[in-house]
Amino acid sequence: MTYHIFQSLFVFGITTGVAISAVVQFLYYTFSGPSPDEVAFLPSPAIEAQQDVPKSNSRAAIQRLEDQFYVSTVQLQDMVKLFVHDMQRGLKRENALIKMLPSYVTKRPTGNERGTYLALDLGGTNFRVCEVTFATGQVRTKQRKFTVSDELKTGPGHLLFDFFADCVALFLDENGIPRDTNMKLGFTFSFPCHQEALNRGRLIRWTKGFTASGVVGEDVVKLLQDAFHRKGLSINVTALVNDTVGTLISHAYIDPLTQAGIILGTGSNAAYVERISEIKKWDGPKSASNEMVINMEWGNWGSDKIALPLTAYDLKVDRASPNPGQQLYEKMISGMYLGEITRYIMLDLISTGELFRGQRSVELEKPYNFDTANMSRIERDHTTDMSDTNMLLKTVYNIDSTLKDRRNLKQICQLVSTRAARLAAVGISAIVTKTNRLNGATVGIDGSVYEHYQHFGNHVKDALRELLGMVAQNVTLAQGEFLRCDG
Ligand code: ADP
Ligand code: MG
Repeated sequence: MTYHIFQSLFVFGITTGVAISAVVQFLYYTFSGPSPDEVAFLPSPAIEAQQDVPKSNSRAAIQRLEDQFYVSTVQLQDMVKLFVHDMQRGLKRENALIKMLPSYVTKRPTGNERGTYLALDLGGTNFRVCEVTFATGQVRTKQRKFTVSDELKTGPGHLLFDFFADCVALFLDENGIPRDTNMKLGFTFSFPCHQEALNRGRLIRWTKGFTASGVVGEDVVKLLQDAFHRKGLSINVTALVNDTVGTLISHAYIDPLTQAGIILGTGSNAAYVERISEIKKWDGPKSASNEMVINMEWGNWGSDKIALPLTAYDLKVDRASPNPGQQLYEKMISGMYLGEITRYIMLDLISTGELFRGQRSVELEKPYNFDTANMSRIERDHTTDMSDTNMLLKTVYNIDSTLKDRRNLKQICQLVSTRAARLAAVGISAIVTKTNRLNGATVGIDGSVYEHYQHFGNHVKDALRELLGMVAQNVTLAQGEFLRCDG
């Protein structure tokens, strides 16, 4: 099988391993005073015990936060210039701020691919095993989702890879596929890897809370293949791709104008199509297409602390993270961290008595115990008394809140998420600017933050209009929406 057929088939196949949304596109191409109901919560002992906390003006607190979290159009424009500059540096040399990693993907799918493949997708929160069958006019998928425990994320690497193999074995057994199937498998592994071939890539470093030992510097395809051997599975790992690359390719299948794939999930990253002549550091073979998909690893942008409007809360999140000083852009825009930024803000305003009348919450004091999904839930709470937010605060965090507290919290969530969306638009604008795609570009976007956070996409689009003017009309943000596979 020639390299190109091989690449086309397996990259196409593994695309299906990207969050199932991507699989799929591919298939067919201030208020005052409590309201009466909340009075019920007011006379709790917790609140009475906190009556000594000095009363302060929560409106001033929100204003203070607005000043810190608002990012102006001019600031965004300045960031785009620096972003493009950093992209160019990354294309010239190794170990730049944005790594700009060649993916070895030089061809986009034709739509004529056939066969049955296995696909694994390790994103950061979820691990999925899929079987995908391409037949004339038909695509069938089966998938099963697993959760990777914190012990596996941070323990010995061989146990993590054993877990992957165990999940595959279970999937095969459940679906009546023999363990000596000899099937080909694509591995969507969404961490920065120095790729040496389509089926070979060394992990540069872990991100998104993973620290498993013995993996950094190793070829993750070999680690997976070895785990399969240990478990008696005869499966060939034939391709390794980043989820951004998979997203780009799956969207390209239905829209040839697709130039980029963006992930806004646990972490954030992007891939885009670059001309080989622009990749100055590339000394590999020139492809017939004269293009190469670049896995940007944009999450690390801004880690020199020059370009990003970092607040004290961002710095706290960074310092307490498993990878301080790294992935600062990702830490301002992605799902693992938006809730954590908000949690730090809440703890701060509780300590000053500006939120929940200073009521402390043991649950809220636990690191990473305020999920970004809570933020979108709070922002979506349009009831007059914000009763859903009331219930969330009470049942999960044992916090008695006033309506004013809840409205303030909603504003805090809006400030953090709007800033995230506007900053994400900086990266997208930089890609459009760098590739000079002013006439039209489709950007495939996947990940639960973009998919489930109401208005996130609208804020991205607003910022793109501020940044690109009329050109923004030619930029299509395409989200996976063609088919859902819940199998
Ligand atoms: P992965 O990164 O593993 O591919 P996802 O794309 O599902 O997985 O992203 C998971 C992240 O999305 C988590 O950090 C979670 O906080 C966030 N998330 C999940 N549901 C929502 C939601 N409804 N609103 C906003 N963020 C969400
Ligand atoms: Mg994913």
